[in-house]
Amino acid sequence: MSRAFNFSAGPAALPTSVLERAQAELLDYQGRGVSIMEMSHRSPLYMEMAQQVEANLRDLMSVPEDYAVIFMQGGATLQFSALLWNLLGDKKSADYAVTGLWSRKAQQIASNSCDTRVLCDAADFDYRKGHDSGSWDIDPEAAFVHYCPNETVHGLEFPDTPDTGDVPLVADFSSSILSAPVDVSRFGVIYGGAQKNIGPAGITLVICRRDLLQDCAPQVPAVLSYKAQEASGSMLNTPPTYSWYLVGLMLEWLQEQGGLAAMQQQNKQKAALLYERIDRSNFYNNLIDPSWRSRMNVVFNLADPALEAVFVAESDAAGLRALKGHKAVGGIRASLYNAVPLEAVEALADFMGEFERRHG
Ligand code: PMP
Repeated sequence: MSRAFNFSAGPAALPTSVLERAQAELLDYQGRGVSIMEMSHRSPLYMEMAQQVEANLRDLMSVPEDYAVIFMQGGATLQFSALLWNLLGDKKSADYAVTGLWSRKAQQIASNSCDTRVLCDAADFDYRKGHDSGSWDIDPEAAFVHYCPNETVHGLEFPDTPDTGDVPLVADFSSSILSAPVDVSRFGVIYGGAQKNIGPAGITLVICRRDLLQDCAPQVPAVLSYKAQEASGSMLNTPPTYSWYLVGLMLEWLQEQGGLAAMQQQNKQKAALLYERIDRSNFYNNLIDPSWRSRMNVVFNLADPALEAVFVAESDAAGLRALKGHKAVGGIRASLYNAVPLEAVEALADFMGEFERRHG
């Protein structure tokens, strides 16, 4: 059996060794003669595993004690609304930085629940960069400032963490979490779906500063309340038990790789290799300001758009999977999450050179 090089934007590649371990443990978890997915989430063996996952995440990300770590369902999309139900309190509005499709969606969905102010919109620059966060006119009365550090579709990544003063900073880290160390203490809330850098789909991570935890309005389902979920160890009801377990395997794998500083170094190297290949000729292009280029989602076009479909078909035939760009923007996208090895990026760069020689 051979594994292809997988550049999927999500659900995304998982390390082969993680899948092999899951396979080895699938039928019999720790000598119990049952799979972990056939076990009560309240059984001591499961609880022990689940608590270890949280401890490992706290350790990897150096999450301070005054932050709650919560596992939820519904993906990042449900968080676009849950954020408001949890953080708005008696505030009237929230501020949003728009840098691409996902932060725009977050703002649009939020605007159904409260007033939202758009601090900046990268459409002004045709998504080739965002506005410097120092220029944002933040409302001191806003419940929070929301941004997306890495835009999965437009391929823009913030060069630094915005400073929002006393207004809590809320970040949709779906496509860049665990790809590099972050200073969690700069944030009010960090959230993200797991299916890119943390594990499989079905589980959503929320890290929330404890002083922001508050009671939700009575009509908000308790499973969407950060405070209620934190109080119950994210087990108000049955959690996605198998996804939680796979997240655990992924976190152990990250620790074995040397943690987030090691991942950052490798992710920088992978992205640099691919951008260098793109910039080498006019056959391929990426017009994003180099300081805003994403390390996780490298988007590019071919000078001849008619060749893009050929590129996708031929790369797939060469064992390079899922390079078609998102339907909203077209082109090509290579997602280089943690589980994508340098070897995969080298194979892609070689393929690009060879494709250019044949079609250029
Ligand atoms: N935010 C970002 C940055 C994303 O990349 C995605 C998914 N591609 C989402 C939100 C939506 O995530 P979900 O499908 O988990 O709701």
